[in-house]
Amino acid sequence: MTTTGTATAHQELTDEFNPFLAMAKRFEIASDRLGLDPGLRDVLRTPDRELSVSVPVLMDDKTLKVFTGYRVQHNWVLGPCKGGIRFAPDVNLDEVRALSAWMTWKCSVVGLPFGGGKGGVICDPREMSKGELERLTRRYTASIMDILGPDRDVPAPDMNTNAQTMAWIMDTYSMHVRSTQTAVVTGKPLALGGSLGRHEATGRGVMISAREALKRLGMRPEDTKVVVQGSGNVGGIGALLMHREGYTITSLSDMYGSIHNPNGLDVPNVLEFLAEKGKLEGFPDAEAVPNAVQLELPCDVLIPAATENTITSKNVDKIKAKLIVEGANGPTTFPADSVLDERGVMVVPDILANAGGVTVSYFEWVQDRMGYFWTEEVVNSRLEQIMVKAFDEVDEVAKKHDVSLRIGSYIHAIGRVAEVYQLRGSFA
Ligand code: GLU
Repeated sequence: MTTTGTATAHQELTDEFNPFLAMAKRFEIASDRLGLDPGLRDVLRTPDRELSVSVPVLMDDKTLKVFTGYRVQHNWVLGPCKGGIRFAPDVNLDEVRALSAWMTWKCSVVGLPFGGGKGGVICDPREMSKGELERLTRRYTASIMDILGPDRDVPAPDMNTNAQTMAWIMDTYSMHVRSTQTAVVTGKPLALGGSLGRHEATGRGVMISAREALKRLGMRPEDTKVVVQGSGNVGGIGALLMHREGYTITSLSDMYGSIHNPNGLDVPNVLEFLAEKGKLEGFPDAEAVPNAVQLELPCDVLIPAATENTITSKNVDKIKAKLIVEGANGPTTFPADSVLDERGVMVVPDILANAGGVTVSYFEWVQDRMGYFWTEEVVNSRLEQIMVKAFDEVDEVAKKHDVSLRIGSYIHAIGRVAEVYQLRGSFA
């Protein structure tokens, strides 16, 4: 069954671990600074459209199983909705709502002509075969395709989805509309209209953000110790690129545990080991550390690049880093923000720090629509320009309002969307 509706969920949320509430609290602070009127606040905070679908899938053992999927389009004032699709057992509507709103602000922070959207399917991909995942992806795509399209809503990879998932979405959509539509998703394989540099883009953006922040703190890469929570597309690639730039990466983690070497990990070897064994545990030349302890290890920079709610009121006091660069979406809870501010810890917020991925998604969409593809050097140098400009702009707004980079980024992002909304006017 398919339902559509307008969200009012932000009125009901109360707890620290609800990411939509975390987004809404920061939104209020930034809106106060911008002096936005209550009506406009309501428009910009509330998701434009929420779609919830039941997705029947024939499993390998011939049983029929029904999965639940979502696509939330938070706001399309700046352009087609843009944002990933995640497959995970704990996906829920408030999480997808928050992630879609963050996409609106993220696209705005870096100046892309996109609104924000996000999708998710409640499933455990580790327990599913490739065939089951393909059938799930195709049926989910067919169920949400009325609201997708290169000019409407353009998905991308997120947790547990990848270039192959995007290829299935592109093919399913194209088969239904009777023409090949490469620009309906980004993060595709290169052979299907993907972009060079897209796979590394989020990690590259994290590296650029860390570098810009460290410049302001007067620190050099060769004197900087970095702990990375995660080892996947964001954390693993971010760590690899930073290792190449001369940073000392002292710890990496996966869902099973963390590894630590205070003298620095050989990141290429760690990633090779991980690709071979499927987990970091047992990597020679490092000690094993429980994941909860990893965040509290001594370091200069902490890069949470796993999932939401990892820096909370429960562990924030024990964090030793001077700089936090949010590779993940929503890793810091709202109550933890003020503790970090009071302690003078600089935080490069998610909507800025991990915007490299969607920026190169934008390049991919542009290339698909032009039918003309760029070299990796062109992609990387345009990404560099956009990330540095966005960092400078956020820093300037934060200084002007005497607020953290997080609130500065919200002020910058919301101000831009509010301006465009007012110029377009409200359709009656
Ligand atoms: N899922 C990524 C994010 O959270 C990328 C989104 C995109 O490229 O559209 O930013």
